[in-house]
Amino acid sequence: MWARMKRILKWFGLAFLVIVLGLAGIVFVSFHGLAPIQDGQKLDGVQVVKDGIVSCFLVDLGEREVALVDACNDKSAKGVLAALSKRGLGPEAVKAIFLTHGDADHISGALAFPEAQVMALAADVPLAEGREIRMLKWLLSPKETGVHVARALSDDDVVELSGVVFHVFAVPGHTKGSAAYLARGVLFMGDSAEATAEGALAPAKRLTSDDPALNRASLAKLAEHLAPMAADVKAIAPAHSGVLSKGLAPLTDFAPEK
Ligand SMILES: [Zn+2]
Repeated sequence: MWARMKRILKWFGLAFLVIVLGLAGIVFVSFHGLAPIQDGQKLDGVQVVKDGIVSCFLVDLGEREVALVDACNDKSAKGVLAALSKRGLGPEAVKAIFLTHGDADHISGALAFPEAQVMALAADVPLAEGREIRMLKWLLSPKETGVHVARALSDDDVVELSGVVFHVFAVPGHTKGSAAYLARGVLFMGDSAEATAEGALAPAKRLTSDDPALNRASLAKLAEHLAPMAADVKAIAPAHSGVLSKGLAPLTDFAPEK
């Protein structure tokens, strides 16, 4: 009896170890070689907020108001609130939230800013609101996230808030409604691109993306679209890796060869 128990326990232990190693492997492969996120990093009118493995961004709208690009993973938005509080601001200072896509690690913090107008590309609204799921569909069923998208955006939309222009670009691939935004000289990429430790741009992570080939095509199209306004792009900011401050070059360098 005891010998059998021991054998079963041994197999359970082994299976557990394999799962843990597998997960660790996935995390390692996903994040190895990427530029690290720098919490609190300030660009011109833009501040990085790090929340574990993801980042979101405060975009200044004048002195006492901000917009967010993504809202990070933490439902209570501790990181964003701490950054605001250092400026003597509270949650009501957040007027708008631009979602790069509808995955939970980018939208959950929006719950802490009920007064902010949440925007996302139309195709990702069901995902952001939890009426649709895109991973582990066989295991999970859709569940409302509590996030309400007040304004559905389209490719090439221009949203102006307190004189600050947000240019909207559809970059489907990671999700079908993935967006990039250009505001205050920063091109926000969400999960549609990563920054490598060598300072290059890499495409979306294959494992977690709906359509990696479409993602690459979207990046090439974005590079082409932005070429005439290259001078307006000072930095490129992915959500899961650090900011590249070399203008549009990392995107144009990436696009043609892949
Ligand atoms: Zn993500």
